[in-house]
Amino acid sequence: MQVHHLNCGSMHPVGAPAVVCHVLLVETNNGLVLIDTGYGLRDIAQPTRLGPTRHYFRPALATDEAAACQIERLGFAREDVRHIVVTHFDVDHIGGISDFPEAHIHTTAAELLGAVRNPSLREKVRFRPAQWAHGPKFVEHTPDGEKWRGFAAAKELTDIAAGIVLVALPGHTRGHACIGVDAGHRWLLHCGDAFYHPGTIDGQTPVPRAVRTLEPILALDRKRVRDNHARLAELYRRGEPDLLMLCSHDASLFAHAKSTA
Ligand SMILES: [Zn+2]
Repeated sequence: MQVHHLNCGSMHPVGAPAVVCHVLLVETNNGLVLIDTGYGLRDIAQPTRLGPTRHYFRPALATDEAAACQIERLGFAREDVRHIVVTHFDVDHIGGISDFPEAHIHTTAAELLGAVRNPSLREKVRFRPAQWAHGPKFVEHTPDGEKWRGFAAAKELTDIAAGIVLVALPGHTRGHACIGVDAGHRWLLHCGDAFYHPGTIDGQTPVPRAVRTLEPILALDRKRVRDNHARLAELYRRGEPDLLMLCSHDASLFAHAKSTA
């Protein structure tokens, strides 16, 4: 499947390096599929939708970065997006779902529970119901049973297309997931916010202090996030030649993925 790498949300967090929102646009036999959405046009028109954390993360909120606009620039229509698979429900990952009201929104059952159906007090503060107030068609999945590259809890989303795999990796949020995509010449593993910086998985590039400070603050379950780092680092060390590991926010990983697509 052909995959386009889109930055759908430049951010300039206070005291930290500038970051991107790395979104995948996948051309399948079953229409277009988005992996995450970044910020959407409604967030840009009404930034209060994002809550007070926007003053720390300082998103650019540029119309030309919205997935809907980038898709049209590539010559597609917004209606061509039939499915959106999200890593989790934080504002910088699902803001764009309202720009594709007919698309099915695929997520883990645990994430739907934590963000929409039965959020704890902490989750109520974290997630922004305005982003799903348009009544999207959620499709919930419980990845278990199937194995994928050493992960026990995975599920190939064959109802969308062969070669799209949801891998449960809770920790950052209750139902956070990584998403594997068969891009033909390689597999991509979009790890969302399971890690923020390449140094976390390669063990060599220094991780900026701001990133090391922020990651546990944003984690719902710090121990699980640390365990996830270890598992992802192990996968990276295996050096599987056909696998490229990505995360949502690192600008260098985004630039590398885009230039080698
Ligand atoms: Zn994020």
